[in-house]
Amino acid sequence: MKVLKFGGTSVGSSKNINKVIDILKNYSKDDSIICVVSAVGGITDKLIHVANLALSKDLSYIDSFNEIKKIHQDIITELIPNKNNTVLKAVEDKLHKLKSLLDGIYLINELSPKTSDKLVSYGELLSSFIIAETMRSRGLGVVRKNSQDLVVTNSSFTKAEVDFTLTNKNIRDYFKKSNQSITILPGFISKSKLGEITTLGRGGSDFTAAIVAAALKVNQLEIWTDVSGMFTTNPKMVKQAIPIKQLSYQEAMELSHFGAKVLYPPTVQPVLDLKIPIHIKNTLNPNDSGTIISNKSNGASGAAKGISNISNIALLTLQGNGMVGIPGFSKRLFETLAQEKVNIILITQASSEHSICIGIDANDAESAKTAIDLEFENEISLHKIDPLIVETGLSIIALVGDNMKSHQGISGKMFSSLGKNNINIRAIAQGASEKNISAVIAEKDVKKALNTLHEQFFEGNIKQLNVFITGVGNVGEKLIEQIKKQQEYLRENLKINLRVIGLSNSRKMVFGEHGIDLGNWIDQLEKGSKASINGFLDEAKKLNLRNSIFVDVTASQNISDLYPEYLKSSIAVVACNKIACSSEYENYNKLKSLSLDYNVPFLFETNVGAGLPVIDTLNNLIASGDKILTIEAVLSGSLNYIFNHFNDSNKFHDIVKQAQKEGYTEPDPRIDLSGVDVARKILILARESGTELNLDDINNDSFLTKANLESDSVDDFYQTLIDEEVHFQNLFTSAKSKNCQLKYVAEFNNGKAKVGLKEIPEGHPFYDLKGKDNIVMFYSKRYPDQPMIIKGAGAGADVTASGIFADIIRAENE
Ligand code: ADP
Ligand code: ASP
Ligand code: MG
Repeated sequence: MKVLKFGGTSVGSSKNINKVIDILKNYSKDDSIICVVSAVGGITDKLIHVANLALSKDLSYIDSFNEIKKIHQDIITELIPNKNNTVLKAVEDKLHKLKSLLDGIYLINELSPKTSDKLVSYGELLSSFIIAETMRSRGLGVVRKNSQDLVVTNSSFTKAEVDFTLTNKNIRDYFKKSNQSITILPGFISKSKLGEITTLGRGGSDFTAAIVAAALKVNQLEIWTDVSGMFTTNPKMVKQAIPIKQLSYQEAMELSHFGAKVLYPPTVQPVLDLKIPIHIKNTLNPNDSGTIISNKSNGASGAAKGISNISNIALLTLQGNGMVGIPGFSKRLFETLAQEKVNIILITQASSEHSICIGIDANDAESAKTAIDLEFENEISLHKIDPLIVETGLSIIALVGDNMKSHQGISGKMFSSLGKNNINIRAIAQGASEKNISAVIAEKDVKKALNTLHEQFFEGNIKQLNVFITGVGNVGEKLIEQIKKQQEYLRENLKINLRVIGLSNSRKMVFGEHGIDLGNWIDQLEKGSKASINGFLDEAKKLNLRNSIFVDVTASQNISDLYPEYLKSSIAVVACNKIACSSEYENYNKLKSLSLDYNVPFLFETNVGAGLPVIDTLNNLIASGDKILTIEAVLSGSLNYIFNHFNDSNKFHDIVKQAQKEGYTEPDPRIDLSGVDVARKILILARESGTELNLDDINNDSFLTKANLESDSVDDFYQTLIDEEVHFQNLFTSAKSKNCQLKYVAEFNNGKAKVGLKEIPEGHPFYDLKGKDNIVMFYSKRYPDQPMIIKGAGAGADVTASGIFADIIRAENE
């Protein structure tokens, strides 16, 4: 004999009921079957809702009732499409009684727990009747037995306690006499010893099935639901969750007690001692292997088995100096809660005994507070303890596994990964058995916490990076192309799942919580919402995804002003934009401190030398104990391009125009030609070398004339270049006469920095610098005579994009 239970979704539509019937037909070939069914999916909630409408004198209860009626009528007509449908007639009679009950609630304005149980019992009574009658109409040998005649409870309505002696006897007596191959039983519903209708608590059909399985000592209990087993965590919250093949009874109990809804927590109890395995299966995919819960745990593969969560938690804190060392406080506290019938979910107490913290269902918080403050009224008035502190809006997350105790560092890993993602932990509980480590966190962080922990413990080290890119011009576009090309490589070789979650240009922005499809991102962005710098930040914060990285590929100050907000929200910042790092020292320093305080990277490699690893190298030298003495560098790809092309057979103006046309200068070429851009770069290198410096401190020996510098517009500037051609020709001739090349050089030495045009003699490493190349020479304590040299293309969309890309990957490793 086997007991199979089918949940709400499994019997939620005629299509699914047909699947259930197929499964039962199949099983009943070899064995007799007891099939426990839930109400049609969602009906119990709807019944409670309609009753509350009637109670609050809201006449829309009639519409809600009609909706419930229609759901059942539709299912019957689809399952039994006869003209003269007696089943439909019988169900309508039952629904009529339900309607009278609701009318009564409406009229007398009262809904007791007893009436509520009577009302919700209709859900299972109707579903079991419909399924049994459908099977009978198809010629199958089936009987329906009302479990209210079998399961006996006390009178604790809405969650009654089972009298196992009477219940077991009833079940055994009934099935001894029955020789039906299939018996259908409604789950969840029962009767008290006084004959009142009771229920076993929400989700209680699982329990009914376990009670029957244990009473009859069957060899297997199967719970059929809408997912393929007990998952590593709630699959609705974590896409990567996978079914757990095997669980011990204890693990299943811990996971279900801490919120894994797929199994009603008391279900394990009746079958545990008899060692009856529970098999969780998926009605929608019957061939999936599902989860087996027995007295075996396959803990060898990994210590943690699953993560669950309970929402709507309130944390009660009782504290005060008067509690220290005085026995009896906890006893009184727990007794008070017991009298109020408040279920305690989690307890923590620091060894100082100065405070005790208790996690309960938030619905009980008000009554708990009133009762506890009353119990300790005297001590509160004497200031020995404080009035009870109640915090709401919380959740519990729990990491579960029988073998966690034999693995070191699990809680360390758990809390450090939560901390790294800025998830604040309000309380922690870990039993000495170490089967469960629980933490209380803010409700808003639950999804992020589950995903973070899941990644940490169950995803074979695959790490997800969630990137928000703002600025999709030349460089941004290249970056997206590179990410698209590399996604698969990163997943396979570096175990990084890199997803672009948000994209913005100056007009539009778009988000995709599960990653934007980079195949048609341009279209998606065009169809996006109106761009907003603050809106982009708010959305990134709201999505609250782990390992989030904000990438700034703009040159906008308004955007760089928001870096602190990103960092404070534990979102890493990768900036191609130089403004923040070359702004006031105080601001630069604040960003560096925020990055340290919030343990979140702030990276800006492309601020100097585009994709060349200049800042990273500098940081590594310093981190390993070296000290930078001097930096000499050619840092402007645009100026290098200009002076490499300018000679006595062309015009300075034309070369600058050409450089701009080819995209080597800023839109306003004065930023490059005035040397400001180079000054910003050497400033950043000086700061990264540990020197407190501002842009004003940098000596800028400009090669431009007064007229060039005083031009008011780009056009005006170009005109002054034509007017001052002689000046530029002189610069060239002077250098040529000494067999020198003109290079725009940045120097940092002894805490001071300067930039300016220099005549570089043959043989100097700068002399042969081609095209738009950059070169940086670090003289340090370890490289005092022969500098460390970094050289290569220092401008261009492709190399800059690859530098940003490298920062994104670096952010993952930090
Ligand atoms: P039924 O109606 O079949 O009793 P339930 O809704 O009670 O089904 O339970 C199944 C649901 O439990 C799943 O759809 C899923 O959303 C939720 N759930 C929460 N945690 C887990 C978990 N760890 N594994 C599987 N399902 C879970
Ligand atoms: N129908 C009941 C509920 O929704 C019992 C169950 O489905 O297990 O809680
Ligand atoms: Mg359920």
